[in-house]
Amino acid sequence: NGFVELGLASELVQAVADLGYTQPTAVQLKCIPLAMGAEAKGGRYIDLMVSSQTGSGKTAAFLLPVLNTLLRQQAEAAEQARAAYEQACAEAAARGEAAPKRAKRKDPTNNRNFKPAVPGALIVCPTRELAQQVAHDAIDLVKHSRGLRVANVVGGMPYQLQIAKLQNADLVVATPGRLLDLQRSMQIKLDQVQFLVVDEADRMLDLGFSDDLAEINQLTSQRKQTMMFSATFAPRIQQLAMRVMHDGGSSVQ
Ligand code: AMP
Repeated sequence: NGFVELGLASELVQAVADLGYTQPTAVQLKCIPLAMGAEAKGGRYIDLMVSSQTGSGKTAAFLLPVLNTLLRQQAEAAEQARAAYEQACAEAAARGEAAPKRAKRKDPTNNRNFKPAVPGALIVCPTRELAQQVAHDAIDLVKHSRGLRVANVVGGMPYQLQIAKLQNADLVVATPGRLLDLQRSMQIKLDQVQFLVVDEADRMLDLGFSDDLAEINQLTSQRKQTMMFSATFAPRIQQLAMRVMHDGGSSVQ
């Protein structure tokens, strides 16, 4: 499977194999190594401005590198927690005490534990249909990644249902209006977003989301990486890229 050579985690390679993908498409071959290249760049992720059409495989081109990094971070956090617990056990044993209790897992159904969602990755899409399609693709791709949660935030869906699903989400796929509503009502915090993807940036501007994008840009200003996908590189898209990305982003065509 051609995805193995891209350095993706086995959970993701298995998921693409299940979907019947055997070879990465052109845009995937270009984007995935660039997007994941942070290690080679001393920990600095590069921003990408990608010209791509629907049907090119662009969705997996941004989802796979983002999910791969979230998976790696989760594995590192689990390893740290395990090492800390082992050390606490060893210290307790040295004092002749019983092993300490493991920290309890959060129960998302228990309202006393309610906290706003703090996703590590955010994908914004111009329409509800596109956001649902991208979330659907993301759910397919995380099927072997226990612990990675995807939530979809779009207008026209009941708030309560969306809020319940948002709890503990690692990756949120959203349309701008509903996302900002939930942010204002403190159901979601965006200050832990590390990866921001703007899908179909040209349609975003056509549909009048320029101010919303500016607000999302501000709310996620500490992010590590931004990727913008657009069918065209028209001047207004380049202006947007200049505003939201380091050096306007590296162009991928
Ligand atoms: P997109 O451009 O993201 O809308 O993807 C277009 C279609 O191509 C979707 O139905 C994907 O499931 C499919 N697809 C994406 N990547 C691959 C791949 N590497 N091999 C085969 N099909 C793919």
